[in-house]
Amino acid sequence: MRFIADIMVGKLARYLRMAGYDVAYFNDASDDFILKTAMEEDRIVLTRDTLMLERKQFRSGALKSVFISDDDIEKQLIQISSELNISLGPDLTRCLICNDLLVEVLKKDVRNKVPPYVYSTQDEFMYCKGCGKYYWRGTHYDYMDDFFKRL
Ligand SMILES: [Zn+2]
Repeated sequence: MRFIADIMVGKLARYLRMAGYDVAYFNDASDDFILKTAMEEDRIVLTRDTLMLERKQFRSGALKSVFISDDDIEKQLIQISSELNISLGPDLTRCLICNDLLVEVLKKDVRNKVPPYVYSTQDEFMYCKGCGKYYWRGTHYDYMDDFFKRL
């Protein structure tokens, strides 16, 4: 199940990526671009825009959408999880910044790439080829774990 988020739900896109979902998001995407990409890549459109949902692609059923009704990120995630019947939990497989899949890297190869404290306390590291960012299961991951459990 893949998604594309409109510009009003960028935070939601990030949180879904934290749960490992493929979510395309561009902070300057036009409605036309979102619809075109959704058609080409078979993505469900996540939107808060009622006008966009009046487009023929949705009326005809060619495209699937979830209309995000609430401002609150927790309520948005609960809505998605129940409407699409998907589970949400922290999953360190996708870059939060650019949506690329992460690859595992050896600890010895990140010695000069991550802060010394992180290097000495973590053993597993992931890397995004798209934007060059490194990931590990640090305090942020624990926060996400708590967050998803609370939902
Ligand atoms: Zn990236």
